[in-house]
Amino acid sequence: MSAVMVDVRGVHKSFGPQKVLRGVDLQVRAGEVTVVLGPSGSGKSTLLRAINHLEKVNRGSISIDGELIGYRRSGDKLYELREKDVLRQRTHIGFVFQNFHLFPHLTALDNIIEAPLSALRLPRKEAVARAERLLERVGLADKAGSYPRQLSGGQQQRVAIARALALEPKVLLFDEPTSALDPELVGEVLEVIKGLARSGTTMVVVTHEIGFAREVADTVVFIDGGVIVEQGPPAAVLDSPRHERTRAFLSKVL
Ligand code: ADP
Ligand code: MG
Repeated sequence: MSAVMVDVRGVHKSFGPQKVLRGVDLQVRAGEVTVVLGPSGSGKSTLLRAINHLEKVNRGSISIDGELIGYRRSGDKLYELREKDVLRQRTHIGFVFQNFHLFPHLTALDNIIEAPLSALRLPRKEAVARAERLLERVGLADKAGSYPRQLSGGQQQRVAIARALALEPKVLLFDEPTSALDPELVGEVLEVIKGLARSGTTMVVVTHEIGFAREVADTVVFIDGGVIVEQGPPAAVLDSPRHERTRAFLSKVL
Protein backbone atom coordinates (compact mmCIF):
# COMPACT_ATOMS: atom_id res chain seq x y z
CA MET A 1 0.00 0.00 0.00
CA SER A 2 1.24 3.49 -0.77
CA ALA A 3 1.87 6.11 1.91
CA VAL A 4 -0.86 8.34 3.29
CA MET A 5 -0.71 11.63 1.42
CA VAL A 6 -3.66 13.47 2.99
CA ASP A 7 -4.31 12.81 6.65
CA VAL A 8 -7.29 14.52 8.26
CA ARG A 9 -7.70 13.72 11.94
CA GLY A 10 -10.53 14.62 14.25
CA VAL A 11 -11.28 17.87 12.47
CA HIS A 12 -13.94 20.14 13.92
CA LYS A 13 -14.97 23.46 12.42
CA SER A 14 -17.67 25.87 13.52
CA PHE A 15 -18.88 29.15 12.11
CA GLY A 16 -20.17 30.95 15.17
CA PRO A 17 -22.63 28.60 16.82
CA GLN A 18 -22.97 26.41 13.72
CA LYS A 19 -20.95 23.20 13.84
CA VAL A 20 -20.06 22.47 10.23
CA LEU A 21 -17.44 19.73 10.65
CA ARG A 22 -17.90 17.50 13.69
CA GLY A 23 -14.94 15.16 13.90
CA VAL A 24 -13.83 14.26 10.39
CA ASP A 25 -11.16 11.59 9.86
CA LEU A 26 -10.01 10.99 6.32
CA GLN A 27 -6.92 9.37 4.85
CA VAL A 28 -6.05 9.55 1.18
CA ARG A 29 -3.16 7.42 -0.05
CA ALA A 30 -0.68 8.61 -2.64
CA GLY A 31 -1.97 8.01 -6.14
CA GLU A 32 -5.54 7.41 -5.01
CA VAL A 33 -8.74 9.22 -5.88
CA THR A 34 -11.27 9.95 -3.16
CA VAL A 35 -14.70 11.17 -4.22
CA VAL A 36 -16.69 13.05 -1.59
CA LEU A 37 -20.47 12.97 -1.88
CA GLY A 38 -23.02 14.65 0.33
CA PRO A 39 -26.00 16.97 0.39
CA SER A 40 -25.70 20.71 0.08
CA GLY A 41 -24.52 22.26 3.33
CA SER A 42 -23.00 19.04 4.67
CA GLY A 43 -19.51 20.57 4.97
CA LYS A 44 -17.81 19.32 1.78
CA SER A 45 -16.38 22.68 0.71
CA THR A 46 -15.39 23.51 4.26
CA LEU A 47 -13.47 20.23 4.44
CA LEU A 48 -11.58 20.97 1.20
CA ARG A 49 -10.90 24.53 2.32
CA ALA A 50 -9.60 23.25 5.64
CA ILE A 51 -7.20 20.87 3.85
CA ASN A 52 -5.83 23.89 2.01
CA HIS A 53 -5.85 25.95 5.23
CA LEU A 54 -8.22 28.45 3.65
CA GLU A 55 -10.26 27.71 6.79
CA LYS A 56 -8.69 27.30 10.19
CA VAL A 57 -10.03 24.34 12.10
CA ASN A 58 -11.12 24.49 15.72
CA ARG A 59 -9.88 21.05 16.63
CA GLY A 60 -7.93 18.23 15.01
CA SER A 61 -5.12 18.35 12.50
CA ILE A 62 -4.42 17.99 8.79
CA SER A 63 -1.18 16.76 7.26
CA ILE A 64 -0.08 16.50 3.66
CA ASP A 65 2.73 14.06 2.96
CA GLY A 66 3.53 13.97 6.66
CA GLU A 67 3.72 17.77 7.04
CA LEU A 68 1.28 19.47 9.38
CA ILE A 69 -0.71 22.12 7.48
CA GLY A 70 -1.00 25.60 8.97
CA TYR A 71 0.83 24.80 12.19
CA ARG A 72 4.10 23.64 13.57
CA ARG A 73 4.32 21.32 16.51
CA SER A 74 6.63 22.04 19.39
CA GLY A 75 6.35 19.50 22.19
CA ASP A 76 2.62 18.96 22.50
CA LYS A 77 1.70 22.50 21.46
CA LEU A 78 0.73 23.75 18.02
CA TYR A 79 1.85 27.15 16.79
CA GLU A 80 0.27 28.79 13.80
CA LEU A 81 2.57 29.23 10.82
CA ARG A 82 3.27 32.61 9.34
CA GLU A 83 1.42 33.56 6.18
CA LYS A 84 4.47 33.01 3.98
CA ASP A 85 4.90 29.48 5.31
CA VAL A 86 1.22 28.75 4.73
CA LEU A 87 1.60 30.04 1.16
CA ARG A 88 4.58 27.74 0.64
CA GLN A 89 2.52 24.79 1.91
CA ARG A 90 -0.33 25.74 -0.40
CA THR A 91 1.94 25.37 -3.42
CA HIS A 92 1.78 21.62 -2.72
CA ILE A 93 -2.02 21.60 -2.80
CA GLY A 94 -3.80 22.32 -6.06
CA PHE A 95 -7.37 23.59 -5.85
CA VAL A 96 -9.95 23.63 -8.64
CA PHE A 97 -13.10 25.63 -7.92
CA GLN A 98 -16.63 25.29 -9.19
CA ASN A 99 -16.45 28.68 -10.91
CA PHE A 100 -12.95 28.32 -12.42
CA HIS A 101 -11.56 31.50 -10.77
CA LEU A 102 -9.30 32.30 -13.71
CA PHE A 103 -7.75 35.76 -13.91
CA PRO A 104 -9.99 37.42 -16.52
CA HIS A 105 -7.32 39.83 -17.74
CA LEU A 106 -4.76 37.09 -18.44
CA THR A 107 -4.57 34.66 -21.34
CA ALA A 108 -4.81 30.92 -20.69
CA LEU A 109 -1.01 30.66 -20.84
CA ASP A 110 -0.49 33.63 -18.53
CA ASN A 111 -3.01 32.20 -16.05
CA ILE A 112 -0.93 29.03 -15.91
CA ILE A 113 2.54 30.61 -15.61
CA GLU A 114 1.54 33.15 -12.96
CA ALA A 115 2.09 30.95 -9.90
CA PRO A 116 5.21 29.17 -11.19
CA LEU A 117 6.76 32.61 -11.80
CA SER A 118 5.70 34.19 -8.51
CA ALA A 119 5.69 31.25 -6.10
CA LEU A 120 8.38 28.97 -7.54
CA ARG A 121 10.47 31.73 -9.18
CA LEU A 122 10.76 29.53 -12.25
CA PRO A 123 12.55 31.14 -15.19
CA ARG A 124 9.95 32.43 -17.63
CA LYS A 125 11.08 30.13 -20.42
CA GLU A 126 10.68 27.07 -18.22
CA ALA A 127 7.29 28.24 -16.92
CA VAL A 128 6.07 28.75 -20.49
CA ALA A 129 7.34 25.33 -21.59
CA ARG A 130 5.59 23.74 -18.62
CA ALA A 131 2.35 25.63 -19.36
CA GLU A 132 2.44 24.52 -22.98
CA ARG A 133 2.83 20.89 -21.92
CA LEU A 134 -0.08 21.27 -19.53
CA LEU A 135 -2.32 22.92 -22.13
CA GLU A 136 -1.54 19.99 -24.40
CA ARG A 137 -2.44 17.60 -21.61
CA VAL A 138 -5.87 19.18 -21.10
CA GLY A 139 -6.47 19.31 -24.86
CA LEU A 140 -6.08 23.06 -25.27
CA ALA A 141 -2.73 23.44 -27.01
CA ASP A 142 -4.33 25.86 -29.47
CA LYS A 143 -5.84 28.14 -26.79
CA ALA A 144 -2.69 29.48 -25.14
CA GLY A 145 -3.42 33.03 -26.28
CA SER A 146 -7.15 33.03 -25.52
CA TYR A 147 -8.67 35.01 -22.68
CA PRO A 148 -11.15 33.30 -20.35
CA ARG A 149 -14.11 35.17 -21.88
CA GLN A 150 -13.18 33.67 -25.27
CA LEU A 151 -13.39 30.13 -23.88
CA SER A 152 -16.34 27.90 -23.07
CA GLY A 153 -16.94 26.94 -19.44
CA GLY A 154 -15.48 23.50 -20.10
CA GLN A 155 -12.37 25.02 -21.65
CA GLN A 156 -12.00 27.50 -18.79
CA GLN A 157 -12.19 24.68 -16.29
CA ARG A 158 -9.55 22.73 -18.20
CA VAL A 159 -7.29 25.79 -18.08
CA ALA A 160 -7.97 25.99 -14.33
CA ILE A 161 -6.90 22.34 -13.99
CA ALA A 162 -3.72 23.04 -15.96
CA ARG A 163 -3.08 26.02 -13.70
CA ALA A 164 -3.54 23.89 -10.59
CA LEU A 165 -1.08 21.35 -12.00
CA ALA A 166 1.53 23.96 -12.82
CA LEU A 167 2.99 23.92 -9.30
CA GLU A 168 3.27 20.12 -9.47
CA PRO A 169 1.17 19.72 -6.34
CA LYS A 170 1.22 16.64 -4.15
CA VAL A 171 -2.56 16.56 -4.14
CA LEU A 172 -5.33 18.13 -6.22
CA LEU A 173 -8.60 19.17 -4.60
CA PHE A 174 -11.70 19.66 -6.76
CA ASP A 175 -14.78 21.40 -5.42
CA GLU A 176 -17.69 20.47 -7.71
CA PRO A 177 -15.59 21.08 -10.83
CA THR A 178 -18.48 20.45 -13.24
CA SER A 179 -21.42 21.94 -11.34
CA ALA A 180 -21.26 25.29 -13.13
CA LEU A 181 -21.07 23.74 -16.60
CA ASP A 182 -23.72 23.20 -19.21
CA PRO A 183 -24.44 19.46 -19.37
CA GLU A 184 -22.76 18.98 -22.74
CA LEU A 185 -19.47 20.36 -21.34
CA VAL A 186 -19.30 18.13 -18.26
CA GLY A 187 -17.79 15.16 -20.09
CA GLU A 188 -14.70 16.92 -21.42
CA VAL A 189 -13.73 18.08 -17.92
CA LEU A 190 -14.38 14.67 -16.36
CA GLU A 191 -12.22 13.10 -19.11
CA VAL A 192 -9.31 15.32 -18.10
CA ILE A 193 -9.74 14.39 -14.44
CA LYS A 194 -9.93 10.70 -15.39
CA GLY A 195 -6.65 11.08 -17.28
CA LEU A 196 -5.03 12.53 -14.17
CA ALA A 197 -6.37 9.62 -12.14
CA ARG A 198 -4.85 7.14 -14.57
CA SER A 199 -1.48 8.85 -14.30
CA GLY A 200 -1.52 8.48 -10.52
CA THR A 201 -2.39 12.00 -9.36
CA THR A 202 -3.62 12.04 -5.76
CA MET A 203 -7.02 13.71 -5.77
CA VAL A 204 -9.98 14.57 -3.58
CA VAL A 205 -13.00 15.33 -5.73
CA VAL A 206 -16.27 16.72 -4.41
CA THR A 207 -18.88 15.98 -7.05
CA HIS A 208 -22.42 14.81 -7.64
CA GLU A 209 -21.33 12.82 -10.71
CA ILE A 210 -22.05 9.31 -9.49
CA GLY A 211 -20.98 7.63 -12.73
CA PHE A 212 -17.61 9.33 -12.44
CA ALA A 213 -17.30 8.22 -8.81
CA ARG A 214 -18.08 4.65 -9.76
CA GLU A 215 -15.52 4.61 -12.56
CA VAL A 216 -12.66 6.61 -11.07
CA ALA A 217 -12.79 6.61 -7.28
CA ASP A 218 -10.70 4.31 -5.16
CA THR A 219 -12.75 5.45 -2.19
CA VAL A 220 -16.16 7.09 -2.00
CA VAL A 221 -16.89 9.12 1.10
CA PHE A 222 -20.43 10.12 2.05
CA ILE A 223 -20.58 13.12 4.35
CA ASP A 224 -23.72 14.45 6.02
CA GLY A 225 -24.12 16.94 8.82
CA GLY A 226 -20.37 17.42 9.14
CA VAL A 227 -19.51 13.76 9.74
CA ILE A 228 -18.43 10.98 7.45
CA VAL A 229 -21.40 8.65 7.52
CA GLU A 230 -19.69 5.93 5.52
CA GLN A 231 -16.80 5.35 3.18
CA GLY A 232 -15.42 2.53 1.12
CA PRO A 233 -14.90 1.28 -2.42
CA PRO A 234 -17.45 2.70 -4.89
CA ALA A 235 -19.25 -0.61 -5.34
CA ALA A 236 -19.85 -0.88 -1.60
CA VAL A 237 -20.96 2.69 -0.92
CA LEU A 238 -22.91 3.25 -4.13
CA ASP A 239 -24.51 -0.17 -4.61
CA SER A 240 -24.98 -1.42 -1.09
CA PRO A 241 -24.83 1.53 1.28
CA ARG A 242 -25.09 0.52 4.92
CA HIS A 243 -26.70 3.70 6.18
CA GLU A 244 -30.18 4.99 5.59
CA ARG A 245 -28.88 8.55 5.09
CA THR A 246 -26.58 7.35 2.29
CA ARG A 247 -29.44 5.45 0.66
CA ALA A 248 -31.73 8.47 0.88
CA PHE A 249 -29.08 10.73 -0.68
CA LEU A 250 -28.27 8.31 -3.49
CA SER A 251 -31.90 7.79 -4.34
CA LYS A 252 -32.12 11.54 -5.01
CA VAL A 253 -28.99 11.90 -7.15
CA LEU A 254 -28.99 8.62 -9.08
P1 ADP B 1 -21.26 22.01 1.11
O1 ADP B 1 -20.03 22.35 0.34
O2 ADP B 1 -21.34 20.59 1.53
O3 ADP B 1 -22.51 22.45 0.43
P2 ADP B 1 -20.24 24.00 2.95
O4 ADP B 1 -19.01 23.41 3.52
O5 ADP B 1 -20.08 25.03 1.90
O6 ADP B 1 -21.21 22.84 2.49
O7 ADP B 1 -21.09 24.68 4.11
C1 ADP B 1 -21.53 24.00 5.24
C2 ADP B 1 -22.24 24.97 6.14
O8 ADP B 1 -21.31 25.93 6.61
C3 ADP B 1 -23.34 25.73 5.43
O9 ADP B 1 -24.44 25.84 6.31
C4 ADP B 1 -22.73 27.08 5.19
O10 ADP B 1 -23.69 28.09 5.19
C5 ADP B 1 -21.78 27.24 6.35
N1 ADP B 1 -20.63 28.07 6.01
C6 ADP B 1 -19.68 27.77 5.10
N2 ADP B 1 -18.75 28.74 5.04
C7 ADP B 1 -19.12 29.68 5.94
C8 ADP B 1 -18.54 30.95 6.34
N3 ADP B 1 -17.41 31.41 5.83
N4 ADP B 1 -19.21 31.63 7.31
C9 ADP B 1 -20.34 31.16 7.85
N5 ADP B 1 -20.92 29.99 7.52
C10 ADP B 1 -20.32 29.25 6.56
MG1 MG C 1 -19.76 23.15 -1.53
